[in-house]
Amino acid sequence: MSPADVVVALDVGGTGMKCALVRPDGAVLHTERHPTDAGRGPEAVVDTILAVAEGLAGKARADGLAPVALGVAVPGVIDEARGVAVWSANVGFRDVPLRDLAQARLGLPTALGHDVRAGGLAEARLGAGRDDRHVLFVAIGTGIAAAHVVDGVTVVGAHGAAGEIGHVLVRPGGPSCGCGRPGCLEAVASAGAIGRRYAALAGVPATAADVAARAAAGEPLAADVWREAVEALADGLAIGQALFDVETVVLGGGLAQAGALLLDPLRAALHERMTFHREPRLVAAALGDEAGCLGAALLALDSLEK
Ligand SMILES: [Zn+2]
Repeated sequence: MSPADVVVALDVGGTGMKCALVRPDGAVLHTERHPTDAGRGPEAVVDTILAVAEGLAGKARADGLAPVALGVAVPGVIDEARGVAVWSANVGFRDVPLRDLAQARLGLPTALGHDVRAGGLAEARLGAGRDDRHVLFVAIGTGIAAAHVVDGVTVVGAHGAAGEIGHVLVRPGGPSCGCGRPGCLEAVASAGAIGRRYAALAGVPATAADVAARAAAGEPLAADVWREAVEALADGLAIGQALFDVETVVLGGGLAQAGALLLDPLRAALHERMTFHREPRLVAAALGDEAGCLGAALLALDSLEK
């Protein structure tokens, strides 16, 4: 690769897109953010993705750089081998051949990836898991999803749906989950679930951040709700460790911003649940909300080596 080579990277979420020009060594040369406006429907969103990517490639050329590939990370079920966004609740995609559409429009080799797996890939290679070979990245936000990364490669699964740790059953008969089953981890311990649980008990609206702050201030109800979520997360992570036997679990997403308030009790609860399994190191993500975009860049670079 030449020193002027860059990849165009996009991390598409339900509300916004994080975009960057990234050098092969991981250095970020330029960033942009654009609204997704998912309510306009999938065709309009695809048009915006392609227009933004084209704009970034044009910006690179205007700056004397050479765009060599495009990486796009999107939420939902992604068939990475075929480059198809199979299904996404928050962006509305149903079987969108996004990779082929982008290649046709930009004339660049394109990689399509899953947003959480892309974020996990970046954390494992460049972030909090960079010294370890076996990493589980768990993003806790509106929902809960994970990426299992081994030797810098993300496990995708036979159907593009590996890592759905938010839907392991931790509380049979518990709160109903968006997937239709009661008691999933995500229905108990996601940021959304924590806010809803507190609001239902206290009778006032609250976010997970509110609950964290009130728990830290010693409010008993908030402390109870927080503890319930931590216990459920520990159950979920213990299942993850039984399956994957990783060295490090990296916690990302909005809830991880609670820092020690989450990590300290979660570490203790996970420790209690370990029998013969080796306890993983539990750390906060290091790359913040740029992880997905960096991961999209890594996917684009990897696709060039194949
Ligand atoms: Zn579920």
